[in-house]
Amino acid sequence: MRECFEIRDTDAGGRIGELAVPRADVTVETPALLPVINPNLDTIAPRRLAEEFGAEILITNSYIIYGTDDVRERALEDGLHEVLDFPGAIMTDSGSFQLAEYGEIDVTTEEILEFQHAIGSDIGTPVDIPTPPDVSRDRAEADLETTQERLEVAERVETGEMLVNAPVQGSTYPDLREAAGRHASETDLDVFPVGAVVPLMNDYRYDDVIDVVAGAKRGLGPATPVHLFGAGHPMMFALSVAMGCDLFDSAAYALYARDDRYLTVRGTRHLEDLEYLPCSCPVCTTHSPDDLRRLEGDQREEELAAHNLHVTFAEIRRIKQAIRAGNLLELVEGRARAHPTMLDGYRTLLDHADQLERSDPVSKGSFFYVSHESARRPEVIRHHRRLERLSVPDSLLLTEGDPPRADEFDECWRVEPPFGPFPRALSKSYPLTAEVPDRTDRAALEAASDGVSRLVEENPHAEISLAHRGWPGDVLECVPERVDLIDIDSAGDE
Ligand SMILES: [Zn+2]
Repeated sequence: MRECFEIRDTDAGGRIGELAVPRADVTVETPALLPVINPNLDTIAPRRLAEEFGAEILITNSYIIYGTDDVRERALEDGLHEVLDFPGAIMTDSGSFQLAEYGEIDVTTEEILEFQHAIGSDIGTPVDIPTPPDVSRDRAEADLETTQERLEVAERVETGEMLVNAPVQGSTYPDLREAAGRHASETDLDVFPVGAVVPLMNDYRYDDVIDVVAGAKRGLGPATPVHLFGAGHPMMFALSVAMGCDLFDSAAYALYARDDRYLTVRGTRHLEDLEYLPCSCPVCTTHSPDDLRRLEGDQREEELAAHNLHVTFAEIRRIKQAIRAGNLLELVEGRARAHPTMLDGYRTLLDHADQLERSDPVSKGSFFYVSHESARRPEVIRHHRRLERLSVPDSLLLTEGDPPRADEFDECWRVEPPFGPFPRALSKSYPLTAEVPDRTDRAALEAASDGVSRLVEENPHAEISLAHRGWPGDVLECVPERVDLIDIDSAGDE
């Protein structure tokens, strides 16, 4: 485990952790949001971010400070904490974003890291190459090589107690992201931003975001703090946390406010379209939409920014509580309903259920089956794997209810969609205590029949019968042929 990072609790790929930031002498609880502060104009003062919103950490751009004479002199003289008036931890970006936007910057990794150290940054960043999505593989590999050389340079720069970011690039090639993650985790750098995902998010490509993060996580391993760089919309926090992201930075709260846009966990609304404010933060309980519209420009921007931040921090707290309670994936399922592209993101997350299963706790509160995607959750995969290790008698009845002829078998196990078969003794253990709807869906039946097949294949010599409640023919066709099928519902009518 990284010395600066300790994991306290997990749920799916999500975790509550503690990031120790020695230079600031603070410990940041993750998942954490870092509001982005533009050193030249703050919409909401950093002191207020700490005191009113509970921000423990923020991020600002050292390249802008470096390039702005008066701010640079003050930062070098008084230190960043003094200039910004912020009591928590301060992370600084390096100018890589400007590099991506404008094609060049006039500073090296050594210079910018030394500068970040000199102005009192707590977590610094080298100048990596943010490779955009969908570039040729040759370019992605060449860029990645440059980024990796810079991480090696960063390791050699004298930065004292300052933590240093090791960005993970690789464009939209999951295997390059994985290789980049592995390389980064082998350096002695501290925090791991997954970079250049902003263009994907701007295009609503949440499925690709998840594949990119999953790749990076495979290389980084579980013990590293991961920052989804540039992700500031609360709509996608739950999904990203479930894939293993710990840190987010939001410029969105201020940028959207400037444009009269109002953030919600289900997406963005334009102030001009709102007749009601669906929020109970201090801004929304003391203003009507008309009140907000009547405010002067700057004041309206500040009120909207404050609302946007309240919503964003509230979602982070909700996610932490969901991790504690063990129902993070149910929160993700709910959030996925906000937009079809979010649903794509959630379905892609479930493509990585195997990867999530490794950090998912063996026991939690209770599994709620709330959509057909629930059939693909890591708990179902784990149960199917467990079926391979259970010992099976010579003749076994698997049944969904009270079947006829149960006494003809050595043992009788239950069958519950989506898990499939299990001995009655396990009925009270997680996740088999799941709450499932009475109106079962196809995905749950298919998952249950996969479980039956798994058990049958592992036990070629056992005689196995399946008593089901009217499963459709094509689901039953997936069950191995040698299983004797009994339809409980129609057996009663004979
Ligand atoms: Zn509000």
